[in-house]
Amino acid sequence: MAAAWRDVVRDAAAVREAAAVAVDAALLAGVLMRTGEQPHASDVVNYAPFTLLPSAVPRALFEQAYAVQQDFNLLVDAISQNKEFLEKTLASTIKVDDFTARLFRIYTQVLEEGLAQTVFLGINRSDYMFDCGLDGAAALRQIEINTIAASFGGLTSRTADVHRLVLKVLGKTEEASRLLPNNPAKGLASGIAKAWELYGSQRAVVMFLVEDVQRNIFDQRCVENELWNRNIRVVRKRFRDVFEQGSLDASRRLLMDGQEVAVVYYREGYVPQVYDQQNWEARLLLERSRAVKCPDIATQLAGTKKVQQELSRPGTLEKLLPGHPEAIARIRATFAGLYSLDEGEEGDRIAATAIADPDRFVLKPQREGGGNNLYGEELREVLEKIKDSPERTSYILMDKIKPQPALNYLLRAHSPLQVSECISELGIFGVYVRQGQELVLNQAAGHLLRTKAIEHADGGVAAGVAVLDTPFLV
Ligand code: ADP
Ligand code: MG
Repeated sequence: MAAAWRDVVRDAAAVREAAAVAVDAALLAGVLMRTGEQPHASDVVNYAPFTLLPSAVPRALFEQAYAVQQDFNLLVDAISQNKEFLEKTLASTIKVDDFTARLFRIYTQVLEEGLAQTVFLGINRSDYMFDCGLDGAAALRQIEINTIAASFGGLTSRTADVHRLVLKVLGKTEEASRLLPNNPAKGLASGIAKAWELYGSQRAVVMFLVEDVQRNIFDQRCVENELWNRNIRVVRKRFRDVFEQGSLDASRRLLMDGQEVAVVYYREGYVPQVYDQQNWEARLLLERSRAVKCPDIATQLAGTKKVQQELSRPGTLEKLLPGHPEAIARIRATFAGLYSLDEGEEGDRIAATAIADPDRFVLKPQREGGGNNLYGEELREVLEKIKDSPERTSYILMDKIKPQPALNYLLRAHSPLQVSECISELGIFGVYVRQGQELVLNQAAGHLLRTKAIEHADGGVAAGVAVLDTPFLV
């Protein structure tokens, strides 16, 4: 807990009053989600879960995370253009992981045909935790970089106002004035708008590729409305709609029932469950098109856990970013220990170490969206079972980050108000646009702080584990 909240966190009456104000402020500000019971309705909604109090974040680490974001943008963009690296890195994975293999097949197919796309848009979010060393000093450690459908940039553009009000109610006016402005929605929209403009057709629309069940629609609407403000038309479609209405013309322009699409912004498509045969066909159609995909399939592959692990090998960053020694140093400084489980001596050794001491590690499959990682006893059991099989190579191992917990209240609809020991994860949004070989935009676009009770090892906001938060720099 920020020392600044020590006096209020145990004052039950003050907390109750502040929580009531907080919830109404969140509703007024539009920090909203559709409900689990009525996930298709916008006339019955509730506030998205959030912390009562902003969480303390060391200023130096916050600034470090911002300072390295343009480097990560550059790196992801470089990986997405490096066929040899992607091929080599994912070779062992695609032998055993069917989902990555299918994505990879589309990637190769599109390259063989030749890319029609000439403008590239990346929106990513690099996530970090603050690792607490033995000396008590915290270090910034990257958890992962999300290169597809990185969410909550919209809602979090509105949480600082809520926390500012809460602090005032709690008599912390000076602290309230120190909460930083944050508007990822605007930053993401400016990237999409730039890509739309470079695509060069006034009539063409931006297509948000959305889920069948859109509980987080308001997060997306924040970005969408920023585009409408710039007089850019937005349509929302599902893979199924693309299968039914999508086509390519002779120069591979993407048409939806005749309407040209300039930019496809994926908020879906990162888990195997959404892809049946028709949806795979839809994905292929989109990737073959001239439309700007955010991300294109190469950039999605650049965000796999296997790629992340390979980046930590000595010499890899130097090959990917020649001539950028300072960027490489900044990037490397954020890496936690990452280990390959590929077949061979190196993999055997680290597997044995993890089985002997599972609490030091996290075991990660090639999946996104939270809830897939394995910890502790479960990690030991699974690794024990697969340690001599090729299946092992579909996972990577990572050092477990151990942040210092702090007390806070997690405000969730229909849940009792109780104090929890919490840890936070900081995300920085990155946006870049490339036209041919020229990077025309490369920015950090804002931040997201998510906080969860320590008893949950895994899981994000959408999964109902983490909640939205605002950093209070200390
Ligand atoms: P996903 O793609 O499913 O979001 P992540 O790598 O982000 O996968 O992991 C999901 C969650 O698991 C993170 O938000 C974090 O809370 C926890 N986690 C992941 N890696 C680590 C780690 N090395 N140490 C501690 N916790 C971790
Ligand atoms: Mg994650």
